[in-house]
Amino acid sequence: MTPTCTLVILGASGDLTERLLLPGIGSLLEREPDRALRIVGSDRAPMTDGEFGQLLMRTLTAGGAPEAVARRIADGAAYVCADVTDPSGLREVVGTAAGCAVGRRGSGRRAHQGAADGGGHLVLYFALPPAVTERACAALQEVDLPDRTHLAMEKPFGRDEASARELNERVATLVPEAQVHRVDHFLGKSTVLDLIALRFANRLFQAVWSAEHIESIEIAYDESLALEGRAGYYDHAGALRDMIQSHLLQVLALVAMEPPARITDRDLRDATATVLRATRLWGGGPETASRRARYTAGQIGDRQVPAYVDEDGVDPGRETETLAQVTVEVANPRWAGVPITLRSGKALGVTRKHVVITFADVRHLPDGLTGPDPQDQLVIGLSPDVMELRITTNGTSDPLALEQSVFATTLREAELEAYGEVLTGILDGDPMLTVRGDAAEECWRICDEVLAAWAGGTVPMEEYPAGAAVPRDWGAALD
Ligand code: NDP
Repeated sequence: MTPTCTLVILGASGDLTERLLLPGIGSLLEREPDRALRIVGSDRAPMTDGEFGQLLMRTLTAGGAPEAVARRIADGAAYVCADVTDPSGLREVVGTAAGCAVGRRGSGRRAHQGAADGGGHLVLYFALPPAVTERACAALQEVDLPDRTHLAMEKPFGRDEASARELNERVATLVPEAQVHRVDHFLGKSTVLDLIALRFANRLFQAVWSAEHIESIEIAYDESLALEGRAGYYDHAGALRDMIQSHLLQVLALVAMEPPARITDRDLRDATATVLRATRLWGGGPETASRRARYTAGQIGDRQVPAYVDEDGVDPGRETETLAQVTVEVANPRWAGVPITLRSGKALGVTRKHVVITFADVRHLPDGLTGPDPQDQLVIGLSPDVMELRITTNGTSDPLALEQSVFATTLREAELEAYGEVLTGILDGDPMLTVRGDAAEECWRICDEVLAAWAGGTVPMEEYPAGAAVPRDWGAALD
């Protein structure tokens, strides 16, 4: 029989748990109804096991779990009310999950997995505010953890390079790195995963995937969603921290990494860390490599959107950007000289969620062909899951006048939501689709310089009306 994995959700009545984490597990249980899983929830809100079971029934079925499967998981679940920044609270949580009493670390009373344990590993999932996660990790240093404990940590991992390093050092005292899963759900997106096959299983692209043939790359996630009541989180984060520092740099790593010899957690994450280490700001520094803006009042479809600074809970003095763009270069033999632009924004009228590879023009256009020669582009949609190859063809009215033709295809429909895909790995104890500690630090290193320049006011805050496209002079790859 497959060993039962015990998933402990710290922050079990929080927003992430309800909206993404448990529905993600629901989608996984739809695909694998027999998966051996026990869930233990913990939060500081009082709740009975039965009430937690009802929360599980609702969220797991919403994610797609069959009723009977959700019932099995709900009936086996337990809930512990605890403050997870307190070691004694954490001992109670871990003890409930492991089915044994858990002692103080170093007391000689080893934590073992006991009666409630089905022999699988124990995952402590930190679905907590980041500052609480840091304090919970400090408190865990005083708790004797079972050997097979894995830690799943939500983004943001740290606040800058220094705090990410400090957190990594703390986490390293708890469990080995291979048992730490820093969650970035973009790594579970089917189109992001498709980059692996696209790049490493197609000679067509392998041959041209370098500065020799590629002129520029854009990785964008422009959303029409505005703040949607999330000022408490977003006003402290902004577009750069929320999207570019984490998700888009992970996509960059897959687009630009050297081909790994094997698709294993070690090789893939080595290649990720190597390419991020080689990544630096384009040109002279943040003043030329970055832009920031925030939306003013406008209309998106039939919705009237107030100016960002007038949204509930926003502190205008914080100068939070809702649109950010950073251009970087991967300074290595394959990519030197290719600008790679990362961009994300909210309340935009034109939503572009894609990777655009723009190829260089042919070196010589034969006489007789009438230009201009449209630029060839490969567009990999991150949502919706489409791929387009925009290539130059003969014109329809004049066969010697050049035109662009677009070959578009919809990619396979993902069986699992991104969270479900990432969670599968975590519950299996496989860290491949999560972020390694050194890569998390590198992502902050790349962004810290920009954040410091923005805080110092050397990059102006621009404005765009809600519902407008990205300002034209930002140079988006597609109209
Ligand atoms: P919440 O603010 O909803 O907090 C999560 C839960 O943790 C709450 O129920 C909160 O209880 C509880 N909590 C806070 N302090 C303690 C404590 N000392 N002991 C026990 N429980 C405590 O956060 P989110 O769910 O929004 O986010 C969780 C993590 O996920 C964050 O790191 C966030 O950045 C990340 N994330 C969130 C996303 C989202 O859409 N929400 C998306 C992607 C990532 P209380 O309500 O009483 O404070």
